[in-house]
Amino acid sequence: MLNQDVFLERALLEEGLLDHGQLESVRRHAVEKGVDLVDALVQTETLTSRQIALIKADVCEVPFVELADYEPCYANTALVPRSVAERQCCFPLFMIDGVLTLAMDDPLNLEATDQIRQIAKCEVDAVLSDREQIKALTAKAYSLGHVQAGGTPQAQAIETEIGAEDASQPVVAAVNQMLADAVQQRASDIHINPDEHEMHLRYRVDGVLQEKQGPALSMHSGIVQRLKVMAQLDLTQTRRPQDGKFRFRHGGKTIDVRMSTVPTVCGENVVLRLLTNAQTFQDFHELGMPATLVSSLEEAISRPYGMLLVTGPTGSGKTTTLYTALGRLNDPSRNIMTIEDPVEIRLPYVRQIQVSQEIGLTFANALRSILRQDPDIVLVGEIRDNETATIALQSALTGHLVLSTLHTNDAVGAVSRLRDYGLPSFVINSAVLGVLAQRLVRRVCSHCRTPDPVTDTMRRRFDLEEAAEGFMRGKGCGRCGQTGYRGRVGIYEYLGFSPEVKHEVERGSSAETIRDLAVHHGMRLMWQDGLEKARLGQTTLEEVAKVASVLAIGAPGKHQRQAA
Ligand SMILES: [Zn+2]
Repeated sequence: MLNQDVFLERALLEEGLLDHGQLESVRRHAVEKGVDLVDALVQTETLTSRQIALIKADVCEVPFVELADYEPCYANTALVPRSVAERQCCFPLFMIDGVLTLAMDDPLNLEATDQIRQIAKCEVDAVLSDREQIKALTAKAYSLGHVQAGGTPQAQAIETEIGAEDASQPVVAAVNQMLADAVQQRASDIHINPDEHEMHLRYRVDGVLQEKQGPALSMHSGIVQRLKVMAQLDLTQTRRPQDGKFRFRHGGKTIDVRMSTVPTVCGENVVLRLLTNAQTFQDFHELGMPATLVSSLEEAISRPYGMLLVTGPTGSGKTTTLYTALGRLNDPSRNIMTIEDPVEIRLPYVRQIQVSQEIGLTFANALRSILRQDPDIVLVGEIRDNETATIALQSALTGHLVLSTLHTNDAVGAVSRLRDYGLPSFVINSAVLGVLAQRLVRRVCSHCRTPDPVTDTMRRRFDLEEAAEGFMRGKGCGRCGQTGYRGRVGIYEYLGFSPEVKHEVERGSSAETIRDLAVHHGMRLMWQDGLEKARLGQTTLEEVAKVASVLAIGAPGKHQRQAA
């Protein structure tokens, strides 16, 4: 240890990362606190542990391995007991041809490598990694990895406030670690899928499921039991689907979780949905809406009555848009009521009603009841039948501002859908203020973005000019889990009910005719908004092509449909 510190001090001085004055005060700190040079440098915020690791790798002439960039196999934790890994600050990365690659904070620590060589009964090849990252990886992998073979399980230092009372039990620690990871990785759902051979753990991040290393299959039933206890479900019932919810705190945030179990031949399949808090609500601009759209929406929701519709498939961000609108309208002077299935986010002052099939509380009859409660603004989670459509439009005509959603592919699709529900054109025209259609596309990771030349396929699909530029993609880095994307942004089209549009609706014109007319009057289609965002490097053309139909502009009725 001493040796390494001397080498390190010299290297830091030579590299100019430290001057003699700073070194003196860091040394004083080390003595006062009883810590080593590295901890003293980090604690005094003189250098980051990563900077130090890079210098050390140089000094010790061993390769530096960036642990944030990849996920080592947790099964290797069986080779080295947790207590040894923690004491020696090392982590068993991988085993190839009988040689164990060991991530170490101090590769010159021969006592440690000897000890591990004996325990693991194999050759050891040391590489250097960031001390903080080794500690974090050790905490995570030993909680989620196989229950350790040697040594006694120790109290695990998981920095979460989740069920801290008995975090020493492997199952509890594994559940806590899964939840903490999901929050850190901004996952919206956790899927726990057992099959005959293993327990698959997947997180949905930015709308895409990502496979994670899960605990061993032998821990599956214990984990399900623990989650059932948290969600107050029936522990003895394993053959019937169950739903429940629980709440946990992590990193100062309260997270509500909806839990659902379904029995499969290989055991209970569990899906946990992590619900965001109301505080995290943004304004329209932050959702990626262009300024003209924001003013159209603000104009629509400032009306005393009428209906604003948001359309798109499940997972297209409709609820977030509606809540953002409610957030703008929400003040104690207004009576706001919602009917939802399920109530995803709780808002202050807003009276939220959960649809329940079991007690016959449908969207339609809940809506009828709340209209007797004198609301100013009503949010109907979804219109999916004639009855709800009729009552919702009637209430929009009788002095209420109604916000709701429809499952249609595009904005004009809402007109056809309302006609299908048997509503006459004049009712649609009098009630509907506008229709917003939207999809979510992934944002290019800002940490690893790089210029991305347009491929011929995309050039043809989007009918781009030869010199089109500005496009970016992510190369993949530790921050974005190697996906090249981080976070999502909406792409939008808004059909305002202008006199011209109303005229076409009144005449019973087709969706195509109404769309062409609206485009002629300046409506920007969803894919055009997406293309604009791709040109600005916010997303990629591939993302836009995945979610939005690309329609030929200026060729009425003639359009090439892509995957919708
Ligand atoms: Zn990245």
